[in-house]
Amino acid sequence: MRRLKTNHCSRRRKKKSKDSLNFTGRRFILLIKELLKLIDAEIPFKKAESWDNVGLLIGDMSSEVTGILTTLDCTLEVVQEAVDKNCNTIIAHHPLIFSGIKRIENQGYGAVIHALIKNDIQLIAMHTNLDAYDQGVSAMIADKIGLTKQQILLPAEREMAKLQIFVPREDVESLKQALAQVGVGQIGDYSDCFFQLEGQGQFRPNASASPYIGTSNQLEVVEEMKLECVFDPHLQKKVEETIHSAHPYEEPAYDIYRFHATDQFGTGIRGELASSVSVKEWLTSVKEQLNIETLRLIGDSSKMIRTVGIISGAGVSYMKEVAATGVDLFLTGDIKYHEAHDLLMAGLLTADIEHYSEQVMIEGLKELLQSFDSKLNVHASEQSTNPFKAI
Ligand SMILES: [Zn+2]
Repeated sequence: MRRLKTNHCSRRRKKKSKDSLNFTGRRFILLIKELLKLIDAEIPFKKAESWDNVGLLIGDMSSEVTGILTTLDCTLEVVQEAVDKNCNTIIAHHPLIFSGIKRIENQGYGAVIHALIKNDIQLIAMHTNLDAYDQGVSAMIADKIGLTKQQILLPAEREMAKLQIFVPREDVESLKQALAQVGVGQIGDYSDCFFQLEGQGQFRPNASASPYIGTSNQLEVVEEMKLECVFDPHLQKKVEETIHSAHPYEEPAYDIYRFHATDQFGTGIRGELASSVSVKEWLTSVKEQLNIETLRLIGDSSKMIRTVGIISGAGVSYMKEVAATGVDLFLTGDIKYHEAHDLLMAGLLTADIEHYSEQVMIEGLKELLQSFDSKLNVHASEQSTNPFKAI
C-alpha cells in the first residue's frame, strides 16, 4: 500500500545505505560535492531559513573527503583537531560566516578562516536545515532525555500545486507518463501518484477549429478520463508545456490550483514521558543527561508533566505557537529576563536548558551521517566550544 510520509511515520524510518558512491579498487572515494548531495537528499539545504548560511562555506567542491569531523562551532581548536585526525572536512552546526565579510585578517574569526584554508580543510554548515529535520538537533536532545512518541512540534507548511485535466481514455496512460517524467505525481518517496475517474466530456468545435476528434459545428460527446495529481509549484511552466505537447486536444481542458500541505519538516520536537512526573525531579535528571551546568525553570516547580516540547538553541520566539500545542513543558535555550516574564504571563512552563545543550548534535550528526552511508569516515569533535563557564 502506498504510504505517504507524515511526521509520525517518517520519524524513525530506517535509513537505507546509498550505493551510488564510487569505489576505486578497495579505496572508497568521495568528493565534497558527492557528500553534499548525499546530505541534501535527506536534509535538504533549501529547508534552511532564508537568513541562514548553510552548505559549503569554505573549500573546494572537487576535493576528496579524507574524513569528516562534526562539531557545534568551528573554532581554531576544532581546526587543529581536524588536522590531527586527518579530517579535511568539518561539518559545523553554527555557520562560521554569516553576513557579508569585508576583510579576512589573521585574527578573531578571520584566524579560523585562515587556518581552514591554509590546512586545505573544507567547512560545511548544517544549521536550520538540520533543525527542521525530524531527526535533527531537537530530536537528538529528545533521544538523550528519553522522550518517546516523538513528532515535529510545529510542522511547517509547504505550497503544492494540484492539476486536474480531462483526456480521452486512450490517451490517459501516455499523458501520465509524460507528466511523471517532468516530476508530476511525486509525493515524498513515491512517484507516479495519480487519481483518475471515467466520465463524458462534450464540446462543439467552431468553423475555424481543427479538432482532434469531431467535426466543425457539431456537438461531440467523448468518453474521457479526469486525471488528478500534485506537483511542486516551481514545475508549473514545464507541466503546462508538457500538457500542450502530450495532450491530443488543440485546447486541453485543465485547472491548476495551489494549496498548502503539512510538510515533513518543521520546528522542534514533541515527545512523551512514560508517566507523569514532577517537573523538578525530572529536570534534575535532564541536567545530568544533557551535561549542562545551569538549568533554570520558569513557572510552577511543583507541577506534574508528561508531554514535552523542545526547540534546540534559542526557540523562545515560538512561545505562542508552543503554548498552543498544549505541551506540559517547553525546553529551549537563551531565554532573557523579560522573555521569562512573557513565558510566565503566557502560562507556559519552560526550562532554559542552555544553547550549548545542542552539543548532543556532535555525536548525533556522526551517527546520522553513518546511517546515510556506513562507509563514511566520521569523527565527533572532543572540543568543548561552550563560551560560558559557570563559576
Ligand atoms: Zn544553535
